[in-house]
Amino acid sequence: MNNSLATPWEERFGWFWYGSDVIYNWEEKDFLNAAKNFYDAGNTTAILFGTHFRFSYWAYWDDIEDTIAKITKAFHAYGIKVIEHHSTHLTYRIDNDAMKQSYLSSSFADKGFKNFLETSQANPVLGGSHMDDFGQIDGSTGEICLNSYIHTEGKDVHWVFKHYGGNAHCFNHPSFFKAYTEHLERIIKKANIDGIMNDDVQWFGAGNACTCQYCRELFYKETGYHLLDPENWSSFYENYNDPVYIAWKRFKKKSSGDFHRKLDAFYKELDFHPLRPAYCAEVLPFDTTCYGFESASELWNYIFQECCGLIKYSYVCFAIEAVHRYALASRRGVPSMALFYPATEDSTYCAWALARSWGQLYTGTMHSNTLSDKPYRAFEKKHAALYNNPLKISDLAFYFSEMTRDYTSPNAPQKYMKPFMSYMEAAYVSGLTSDMVFCRDSIEELSKHEVIIAPYIIMVGEDELEKLAQYVRLGGKLVIIGEFGTKKPDIQKRSINEAVSALGLTARLNEEVYHGKAEINYQGKSYRFNNVTSDGCVIPNGSEPILLGENGEILGVSEKIEQGEIIWLPCDIGNNDFQPAIWPQAKETDAYASVLPSLRENGGALLSLLVNQKHLTVLAGEDVIGTIYKVNGDYVVHLVNTIDMLPEEDCKVFKTDTIPQFLEGAKKLKAFPVQINMTEAKDIKAVKLYSPEFVGERSPDYTQNGKNLLINIPENLFSGYLLIHIVISNNESKN
Ligand SMILES: [Zn+2]
Repeated sequence: MNNSLATPWEERFGWFWYGSDVIYNWEEKDFLNAAKNFYDAGNTTAILFGTHFRFSYWAYWDDIEDTIAKITKAFHAYGIKVIEHHSTHLTYRIDNDAMKQSYLSSSFADKGFKNFLETSQANPVLGGSHMDDFGQIDGSTGEICLNSYIHTEGKDVHWVFKHYGGNAHCFNHPSFFKAYTEHLERIIKKANIDGIMNDDVQWFGAGNACTCQYCRELFYKETGYHLLDPENWSSFYENYNDPVYIAWKRFKKKSSGDFHRKLDAFYKELDFHPLRPAYCAEVLPFDTTCYGFESASELWNYIFQECCGLIKYSYVCFAIEAVHRYALASRRGVPSMALFYPATEDSTYCAWALARSWGQLYTGTMHSNTLSDKPYRAFEKKHAALYNNPLKISDLAFYFSEMTRDYTSPNAPQKYMKPFMSYMEAAYVSGLTSDMVFCRDSIEELSKHEVIIAPYIIMVGEDELEKLAQYVRLGGKLVIIGEFGTKKPDIQKRSINEAVSALGLTARLNEEVYHGKAEINYQGKSYRFNNVTSDGCVIPNGSEPILLGENGEILGVSEKIEQGEIIWLPCDIGNNDFQPAIWPQAKETDAYASVLPSLRENGGALLSLLVNQKHLTVLAGEDVIGTIYKVNGDYVVHLVNTIDMLPEEDCKVFKTDTIPQFLEGAKKLKAFPVQINMTEAKDIKAVKLYSPEFVGERSPDYTQNGKNLLINIPENLFSGYLLIHIVISNNESKN
């Protein structure tokens, strides 16, 4: 069976929850009813979600496999594909009463399985070993580790320790692979599933795992290094100057990717060619668990993000993760998608509009059975041609360095990724359209982008420097902000002057520190920043000073090199503020005040001044955010009204807080113009407007002058989301 899809952008993913009630009480008619409801809601693919920590349910695998078969049979009767999804290797471990209480009150608790507390805590033989024998081993203790991890939260991107209250199994342990694939093989043979998501393939123990005998042997075989013993662990762990530690992080990342590749080979052996969607909540700030999501990205049919926070207060942060997923997915030639957890009708509409504006598919799992995304499913189905394979038109691309994030410093999220994300957010809220390039991209890929922004890119290889230099020589504009290139991939240090010299810059940095106001003058435009900090001033050596301190200190330069240009700003402009995602707490949640004014005054103003052109300008106030794509030769613009979504002060919020502009009957916007700078001067045949908020289409007034198009959006048309279709005259309209 081969599940590659002819129209991957037309899938509409929904989530189907099953637990003990479905497994033990449902009859055939119940499954058919569920399938019908799913179909009626407008979905085409069901991702299953239930008995998630699968190894904790080992005693019920037969019943679970049979249920997956029943679900698939019923859903297939309605033409709906089924993707089985579960946590590959997490288990519950209830070591004390507090954990028992915590488990029983968690959303994963399912008391309908007979003797679950006993069976889930047993230590059965699976795949030839006792289950506890294939747990990930914590290097600091030599014992089985908790499935714990460290992630970042908050506007200062501080570290937070979390764990799921259980264990995780080792991907390099042969018994785990055997036990897991035996279960998978039975699912595949019993149930005719269309796809599979092997979730959570990552290393836990707060970063200390795994140091089992298999990991030790493989690490030595692949790198020539020995892993340390618990007594020497503390000097090794998080020592970013130790090549063995860096090699181990790289090894873990490769191992989690290799595990997915081993599953791929296993599926092929069974002649099973599943859809394999994969997701990650946050890629930009950290990768503490060396997750297999990036390293096996060649395997995914859908590359998506889990938007875990409250939509209203987290959309800015979600938007920059979307830039990453869109770019990664487009390298792999597959759709990207965003998963949301809306709690209200208005946040469902808002989330759907945001995802589609980011060039992504939408999927939502509802907090309540009364919520439905059906109106938006119907809308996107009707306008499927306008959402099919959108090719982003961007004003700039950010240079993303996984090596900087992973291998430079224990505080890389705070030191380097926060400023990086701050510039990405600044672009988003300042009306610039952003794309992303990766360090492994080819020169042809880099050269598709007029302007590449490289903020706080620390670990850079010689090959990357040469590629960036070539990008500039061929006509690109490279903007380097903050520290750059001060570590090599082998963790040896390099001075910033050596790094920029390799790019072909003649300017150099001295050690004269600066703090104060500064003014940029560039291509006839100027702007004053209030708070610029620099560890050095620039000796221009013939390059053109563009950023000057209060006493004429040179803080940034522009230098033309062959066909292109480098802008070098080795300083901090503003505080690199960051609008974080807000993870919901049990009742009230602490939300942060909007940093949009600061983002716009600093990074946003800087980037707006440095881009060659803006392809899209929405003159409806800065909170109506526009994105633009080429779709089937036509242009498609999305407008999303984000006004007043963020609070002015830090405050307590609820997940049910309304987003008024997405409520039915909300006050519509006044008239405003939209300016588009098209990539080619082609005659426009028509401009059409659509929204879930009105029936049919509207034809606004517009004027074209070569590449420039001005569309007058009429008043009282929409409040939340508008879709603009610009029909190019020699294209057949497919809509
Ligand atoms: Zn191991």
